[in-house]
Amino acid sequence: MPVVLGNDMVETYVRLLCPECGKDWEDTPADLPGAGDTFHCPNCHASRRTAEYMRTDHDLSTLKELG
Ligand SMILES: [Zn+2]
Repeated sequence: MPVVLGNDMVETYVRLLCPECGKDWEDTPADLPGAGDTFHCPNCHASRRTAEYMRTDHDLSTLKELG
Protein backbone atom coordinates (compact mmCIF):
# COMPACT_ATOMS: atom_id res chain seq x y z
CA MET A 1 0.00 0.00 0.00
CA PRO A 2 1.53 3.33 -1.02
CA VAL A 3 2.26 5.85 1.67
CA VAL A 4 1.61 9.49 0.88
CA LEU A 5 3.70 11.93 2.84
CA GLY A 6 2.84 15.58 3.30
CA ASN A 7 5.29 18.23 2.21
CA ASP A 8 6.47 18.78 5.76
CA MET A 9 7.38 15.13 6.26
CA VAL A 10 10.91 13.98 5.79
CA GLU A 11 12.02 10.41 6.03
CA THR A 12 13.32 9.85 9.54
CA TYR A 13 16.39 7.83 10.30
CA VAL A 14 17.70 6.55 13.57
CA ARG A 15 21.43 6.21 14.12
CA LEU A 16 22.65 2.86 15.35
CA LEU A 17 25.86 1.76 16.99
CA CYS A 18 26.62 -1.88 17.67
CA PRO A 19 27.83 -2.29 21.28
CA GLU A 20 29.86 -5.36 20.31
CA CYS A 21 31.70 -4.54 17.08
CA GLY A 22 31.34 -0.75 16.97
CA LYS A 23 29.67 -0.66 13.55
CA ASP A 24 27.65 2.51 13.11
CA TRP A 25 24.97 3.06 10.53
CA GLU A 26 21.52 4.55 9.96
CA ASP A 27 18.20 2.87 9.31
CA THR A 28 14.54 3.79 9.17
CA PRO A 29 12.48 2.88 12.25
CA ALA A 30 10.01 1.03 10.02
CA ASP A 31 12.77 -1.39 9.04
CA LEU A 32 13.75 -2.16 12.63
CA PRO A 33 12.11 -4.36 15.28
CA GLY A 34 10.54 -2.76 18.34
CA ALA A 35 12.85 -1.30 20.99
CA GLY A 36 12.48 -4.34 23.24
CA ASP A 37 12.76 -6.94 20.49
CA THR A 38 15.91 -8.77 19.50
CA PHE A 39 17.92 -7.29 16.67
CA HIS A 40 20.90 -8.91 14.98
CA CYS A 41 23.84 -6.71 14.03
CA PRO A 42 24.35 -7.00 10.25
CA ASN A 43 28.11 -6.91 10.76
CA CYS A 44 28.90 -9.21 13.70
CA HIS A 45 25.48 -10.84 14.23
CA ALA A 46 25.30 -9.88 17.88
CA SER A 47 21.83 -10.48 19.34
CA ARG A 48 20.66 -7.64 21.52
CA ARG A 49 17.56 -5.58 22.09
CA THR A 50 17.11 -2.96 19.39
CA ALA A 51 17.20 -0.27 22.08
CA GLU A 52 20.82 -1.18 22.86
CA TYR A 53 21.90 -0.17 19.35
CA MET A 54 20.46 3.34 19.58
CA ARG A 55 23.28 5.86 19.58
CA THR A 56 21.49 8.49 21.67
CA ASP A 57 18.33 8.88 23.74
CA HIS A 58 16.98 10.92 20.85
CA ASP A 59 17.40 7.96 18.49
CA LEU A 60 15.70 5.73 21.05
CA SER A 61 12.68 8.01 21.36
CA THR A 62 12.45 8.22 17.55
CA LEU A 63 12.43 4.44 17.40
CA LYS A 64 9.72 4.21 20.04
CA GLU A 65 7.57 6.80 18.29
CA LEU A 66 7.92 5.52 14.75
CA GLY A 67 9.10 1.93 15.02
ZN1 LIG B 1 28.11 -5.72 15.58
